[in-house]
Amino acid sequence: MTRMNARLREIPYNYTSFSDREIVMRLLGEDAWGTLDELRTERRTGRSARMLYEVLGDIWVVNRNPYLQDDLLDSPRRLNLLVEAMHHRLNEIEKRRTGDASARDTKVDELLHAARSAVAAFENQYAETRSLRRKVMRRLGAITRRDNIQFDGMARVSHVTDATDWRVEYPFVVVHPDTEDECAPIVKALTDLGLTIIPRGGGTGYTGGAIPLDRLTAVVNTEKLDTLGAIEQRVLPGTSGPCAVIRCGAGVVTKRVMEAAEAAGLVFAVDPTSADASCIGGNVAMNAGGKKAVLWGTALDNLASWRMVGPDASWIEVERLEHNRSRIHDAPLARFRIRRFEPDGSTLRGEETLEVEGKRLRKEGLGKDVTDKFLGGVPGVQKEGCDGLITSATFILHRMPKHIRTVCLEFFGDVKRAVPAIVEIKSYLDQHPKAILAGLEHLDERYVKAVGYATKAKSRGRPRMVLIGDIVSDDENAVAEAA
Ligand SMILES: Cc1cc2nc3c(=O)[nH]c(=O)nc-3n(C[C@H](O)[C@H](O)[C@H](O)COP(=O)(O)OP(=O)(O)OC[C@H]3O[C@@H](n4cnc5c(N)ncnc54)[C@H](O)[C@@H]3O)c2cc1C
Repeated sequence: MTRMNARLREIPYNYTSFSDREIVMRLLGEDAWGTLDELRTERRTGRSARMLYEVLGDIWVVNRNPYLQDDLLDSPRRLNLLVEAMHHRLNEIEKRRTGDASARDTKVDELLHAARSAVAAFENQYAETRSLRRKVMRRLGAITRRDNIQFDGMARVSHVTDATDWRVEYPFVVVHPDTEDECAPIVKALTDLGLTIIPRGGGTGYTGGAIPLDRLTAVVNTEKLDTLGAIEQRVLPGTSGPCAVIRCGAGVVTKRVMEAAEAAGLVFAVDPTSADASCIGGNVAMNAGGKKAVLWGTALDNLASWRMVGPDASWIEVERLEHNRSRIHDAPLARFRIRRFEPDGSTLRGEETLEVEGKRLRKEGLGKDVTDKFLGGVPGVQKEGCDGLITSATFILHRMPKHIRTVCLEFFGDVKRAVPAIVEIKSYLDQHPKAILAGLEHLDERYVKAVGYATKAKSRGRPRMVLIGDIVSDDENAVAEAA
């Protein structure tokens, strides 16, 4: 069989997006694919190859299915039968070897050796998993409710991916802390147990940040940290005059904060399109923003303070000083007081003030520069959960001017000619004496199609671009004139 007419997939039961090559390399090692490829070109009956693929298919289908794993964990007898069947096939391959120490026979021997190791690793994983699950339950069970610690198929499957739908590994365990106080001891226990920790909110992220890449991963789902405080008037450090603020647990759904603000006649400016499902911790970790970013910035611009647990289970409290109550890059200098506490949450380890030039926190002309993970050293924000677990955050709220008009512009024809309109609209309203652009949403062609956008000009087909702008002012005539 030549390379050209080789079947693309020979490993059976593989319903995943992984190719044969990836599976062979994952289970038998990097070099095994090359060896198999060489043998394939001189394949005789193909029976040995088929049996090897069946063994790999058995391992792969179980490794990719947490429900089958649960079944085998519950039934050592069924696990033994499966492993015996795998050994039987490998023994049959062994019998077919020529044993003449030829180059071909040596390659078959190498593959058989790798396959036996893969079967042993597969079998041993069950004993390891049982033992590690017991240890995790013992350590975490002393910190949080036992039913907040989940190993079952359902929990693992629902935390394998995010909005990207990219899948690599299933998490080993999913933990749902009930309170902020549980978070530091949970982080400490998981680190001591050698597990990789991934914080997670609503799982709407588009960067794959919440996706486990390692089998021994603990996903900390923050959705139970859903305490939403009352709106308070507070004088923020280094400012004069009260400012409306709201304290949110990391797991509060973004939309709930928007609704609370709206009910008080105020605006919560962090408004990603995913607000119905995203959570506050995820918003901070991604520095999320939406339509209102044009006026009030993204999460970073609106944070008054936040709390998080560092990788060493210490507490970090960050407070913005002299908040300019507007976009952070408009302030010449953004200052943050960072206080670090021991894992007990009350013994102060140290305090520092971080100063970052406002303009360094945002790339010229961009809402946010997602490539800048360091972000001037500000902890938590835009870090995708890499430097700690955000447990709560306090945001400033804004007052919306009395009058608002939403303008919708549909663009047909050449997109290149439509795009400059975004800058033109912004420049026009930046110079307007009384009206302000409070939000500008851009829907590109794919988005317009995906949401089934209903155009106002049906005869012209589907628009290539749509802009939705909110124009606001306390002067009704100014809004009407600008719109
Ligand atoms: C339909 C759709 C529309 C979207 N629209 C927008 C938009 O308009 N603007 C925008 O900015 N984004 C948008 N997004 C992207 C996404 O919704 C945001 O990034 C959102 O902030 C993610 O929040 P989440 O709670 O779902 O986070 P998750 O997906 O759960 O996690 C995202 C990242 O944050 C980390 N993280 C989550 N919680 C914590 C925590 N408590 N502590 C530390 N790290 C944490 C995770 O580890 C991961 O790296 C959209 C996504 C979708 C699917």
